[in-house]
Amino acid sequence: MTTIEHGVRIAKLTTIGVGGAARVLARASTLAELREALRFARDEGLPVLPVGLGSNLLAADDGVDAVVLRLEGELAGVDVVETGLVAGGGSTNAVCLHRARDAGLGGFEFACAIPGTAGGGVVMNAGAYGRDWSDVLARALVVTADGEEWMAPDELGLAYRGSALGQDQVVARVEYRLEKRPSAEIKATVAELIAQRKATQPTNKRTFGSVFKNPEGEIGTGRMLELCGLKGHRIGGATISPMHANFIENADGATSADCIALMVEARRRAREQFGVELEREVVFAGLPELPALT
Ligand SMILES: Cc1cc2nc3c(=O)[nH]c(=O)nc-3n(C[C@H](O)[C@H](O)[C@H](O)COP(=O)(O)OP(=O)(O)OC[C@H]3O[C@@H](n4cnc5c(N)ncnc54)[C@H](O)[C@@H]3O)c2cc1C
Repeated sequence: MTTIEHGVRIAKLTTIGVGGAARVLARASTLAELREALRFARDEGLPVLPVGLGSNLLAADDGVDAVVLRLEGELAGVDVVETGLVAGGGSTNAVCLHRARDAGLGGFEFACAIPGTAGGGVVMNAGAYGRDWSDVLARALVVTADGEEWMAPDELGLAYRGSALGQDQVVARVEYRLEKRPSAEIKATVAELIAQRKATQPTNKRTFGSVFKNPEGEIGTGRMLELCGLKGHRIGGATISPMHANFIENADGATSADCIALMVEARRRAREQFGVELEREVVFAGLPELPALT
């Protein structure tokens, strides 16, 4: 049976720790429970909001009128197979990487500093250090209220930090294609990448990862916002990270309104000083789109 709860604060389900109550929180541990939860949402006329680790998610302070869906149990397990891993959509990248390393399977090292799940990785086509999910994904099992289908990367429409999947399409399983690599080499690469991260990004703060996508051109969003003088800029309980200006930290009781006010200001200044219209990377839940730049 799918577990259903009411009134759970989304702040508890996200890395930034912001967001009001979910109308319904459903936890599914098997494919049958997942189908049940999706049919429940359809029958109630509610949208579905799958949440992995909530590491790229900003939810409204007054809550989200949706069935927030978490994948657990069997849908968060990881199996090693000869060609790679078969991971539940709710399995964390940390566990997948650990299992791959122990099995001497390389290729997933780039995900060491991405604190999400297999499902969130597919939907966001998450990436770092020049690699992304499209480089390791063999196929994904996508479930809706009407059925399920294994989809190949080209069918998923993976692009820079996004895919063609809609919110009613839940990634229940992911097959990763990896190559043989000695565990010691994997371990050394991961240690190096994590050290690089710690030196440049606020890995020990509550954030939702990159706020905006990087625009085309030589200068990245972080540097651009730094040159706009935004490092350390604070509104309410939210601060633009003093370490990396494309991160917003929950400094002290931040609200989604605080985070949005910072995003609006960052977009305004980037447009004014660089003529660039920054596009958000973070996913909004229960929130209107950012106002258009005038
Ligand atoms: C400190 C930090 C560093 C980060 N570094 C990086 C980085 O280097 N590169 C990068 O790309 N990202 C980075 N991120 C952002 C984030 O970790 C990734 O986007 C990650 O893939 C999101 O996964 P998640 O499971 O947390 O998804 P969530 O944040 O929970 O959700 C993101 C989107 O995916 C959907 N979703 C989640 N699970 C499923 C599912 N099973 N089926 C269907 N839809 C689903 C949600 O509905 C939402 O639309 C970082 C975040 C933090 C906090």
